[in-house]
Amino acid sequence: MLNIILMGPPGAGKGTQAMKIIAKYQIPHISTGDMFREAIAEGTPMGKTAAGFINAGNLVPDDVTIALVRERLSKPDCAHGYLLDGFPRTIPQAEALDTLAKEIKRPITLVIDFECARPELIRRISGRRVCAVCGAPYHVDTLKPKVEGICDLCGGKLIQRKDDNVESLIVRLEAYESKTKPLLEFYKKRKLLVSVDGLKGVDVLFQELVPLLDRIGTK
Ligand code: ADP
Ligand code: ZN
Repeated sequence: MLNIILMGPPGAGKGTQAMKIIAKYQIPHISTGDMFREAIAEGTPMGKTAAGFINAGNLVPDDVTIALVRERLSKPDCAHGYLLDGFPRTIPQAEALDTLAKEIKRPITLVIDFECARPELIRRISGRRVCAVCGAPYHVDTLKPKVEGICDLCGGKLIQRKDDNVESLIVRLEAYESKTKPLLEFYKKRKLLVSVDGLKGVDVLFQELVPLLDRIGTK
């Protein structure tokens, strides 16, 4: 059963691998960042609450984030697995996820941690562009779309995220260090954690993930 979590600092390559994983394994991609950005674009009350935190690089409060994931995980498409990208990011979120996953009888089967050093994270985030429609990530130098400014996957327009600037990124990296990194120990203790080298090329890394996912998927 593929009930997976992708973890790692912003820019480590989670979103890029997520797009490849969902295409091959046909499981829903649950990206809390994408869900928040959709809520902001729609102007919902939750989106309005989240926007201030996100643009400054801070985490959205746990109660808001957990409620969002609770609703998403209870949808029928998660009954055959799911890929969490960007959640959990704090210990209380990980504890809440345990309960939610039990409720839908889909306990976490694998946590993939993307390791990537700070200078590379900064380089990637400052050149990052994302599809305004499907969220697919690109980079101005190293991951260009076939047609400039246009998403390969859906034809959507590529934009730069509001929080992809150096000031917000410094705050995001600090939040990662202090709040999210402790989760590695949390999942290591449960023998669910696998670390991969986020510096590797997109395709090389995906080829490493496939056997791992195949093995977990058939269990
Ligand atoms: P990145 O991994 O590049 O930082 P995401 O798209 O995953 O980007 O998240 C963007 C922002 O959305 C985060 O900086 C944070 O403000 C908010 N966010 C996303 N997921 C969570 C979460 N699980 N808990 C709290 N805030 C979150
Ligand atoms: Zn797209």
